[in-house]
Amino acid sequence: MRIGIIGGGITGLSCAYYLGRAGIEATVFDPTPGGTIGTVYHEGCVLENGPESWLAAKPWAEQLIKEVGMGDELTSSNDANRRTYVLRHGRFVTLPEGLQLVVPTKVLPIAATTLFTWGTKIRMGLEILRSPKALPDRSVSDFVRDHFGDEAVEYLAEPLLAGVYGGSPDELSAASVLPKFVEYEQKYGSVVVGALRTKIPKPAGGRGIFLTLKRGMGSLVEELKTRVNVLPLRVDGLAKGESGWGLRAEGEWHPFDQVVVACGANHAAGLVGPHDQRLGELLGMIPHSSSEIWTLGFRKEDVKRPLDAFGFLVPRKERGVIMSCTWLNTKWAGRVPDDKVVLRCFSTHQGVTREAVLQELGRLMGISAEPVFALHQRWNNAMPQYTVGHARRAEEIQERFDAIPGLHFAGNALNGVGIPDCIKSARQAAGGVVESIGT
Ligand SMILES: Cc1cc2nc3c(=O)[nH]c(=O)nc-3n(C[C@H](O)[C@H](O)[C@H](O)COP(=O)(O)OP(=O)(O)OC[C@H]3O[C@@H](n4cnc5c(N)ncnc54)[C@H](O)[C@@H]3O)c2cc1C
Repeated sequence: MRIGIIGGGITGLSCAYYLGRAGIEATVFDPTPGGTIGTVYHEGCVLENGPESWLAAKPWAEQLIKEVGMGDELTSSNDANRRTYVLRHGRFVTLPEGLQLVVPTKVLPIAATTLFTWGTKIRMGLEILRSPKALPDRSVSDFVRDHFGDEAVEYLAEPLLAGVYGGSPDELSAASVLPKFVEYEQKYGSVVVGALRTKIPKPAGGRGIFLTLKRGMGSLVEELKTRVNVLPLRVDGLAKGESGWGLRAEGEWHPFDQVVVACGANHAAGLVGPHDQRLGELLGMIPHSSSEIWTLGFRKEDVKRPLDAFGFLVPRKERGVIMSCTWLNTKWAGRVPDDKVVLRCFSTHQGVTREAVLQELGRLMGISAEPVFALHQRWNNAMPQYTVGHARRAEEIQERFDAIPGLHFAGNALNGVGIPDCIKSARQAAGGVVESIGT
């Protein structure tokens, strides 16, 4: 039994690993394996090109890491210093304590914050009086506005979700992006009541809420690459044969019994479209956002502002070129030497320059010095956007793949964009292959 895997990001690599563990030979095709994950070691710093961590509450990444013998490499965020600033009227305001993403659960921090006006605070308090409702899917903005008003969209939902999806809450689906809160709305009416009634377990062993690897996320990809078979080739054709599937790469056909498509919905659309036109259309309907990251290193003495938070978010209303900025020294131990400060700035402005980012850091953080290094990374159409109606489309996509014998789909397109979600979906796809062989 031979399996071809299109795409060698974390999804494709972990799928190949799980297949190998089940004794099934898999070959991954990818000209740039690792996908959006990659670590750079520069001037004593451990720097990420793409994702830098994952949510510890989702176990699938940690399970894989332990299984490949990298458990000792796990490290968690410095949650003793966990605090996030949000820009309001040009000043940093601390995100109030007790938020479950966009839902307040503590009275005093909300009463004390200057992030919201009293109108919004009162609305947040009265939200507990709502009655249960089942509404059709709507945008995150509409959902949050309905519960807490405009200001909660502008200063909470928008900056938080832009930081995760690089997209607009006006388009993102509440049912897909905030499923827990939509469930609370249906069950209790009030999302505050729902959040208060649901105990969120504290991270085990006093760990932080984010996990990463000491030598960076890239070290997981490098480990997986040593365990699976990767061909550095782009697939540009997928053909159904008599007893399996063929993948065309650089003009040559490679025969397989089954194929796992793990290259992202946008790349998958053109490959599977000829076999199921509607499936190709549905995959092509998932928009993807692009982002740019400037990672700037400074001499410690050149950054006068105390780095007393994980970083800051800039709401769209107040945004220049920086959407969010992570203060690496504070968030992680062991990533930046003592004599340096590293700031990781995200932007959705295409072609944003180092100068523009520096100018904004000057305005927001009072930094006027030249950086000692500046690394730039652009991610084109890398992050799927779960827009209104996504859940229904995702279901149809899965059903259509399930109806094509020997073709499987995995990755961040349908049920979660985080690294643990991708690994979970890779494991499920590998499980699907194993199951199909057994029947
Ligand atoms: C900037 C950024 C920051 C992020 N930060 C976080 C974070 O902190 N935490 C978190 O949990 N998640 C984060 N994410 C999300 C997460 O990183 C991704 O969802 C996940 O890495 C996707 O993995 P993947 O393997 O499914 O896809 P990708 O990493 O996109 O890999 C797909 C691979 O398919 C290959 N490919 C495409 N077409 C073909 C073809 N025709 N033939 C062969 N190969 C092909 C590509 O070369 C690529 O390597 C972030 C994403 C981005 C873009």
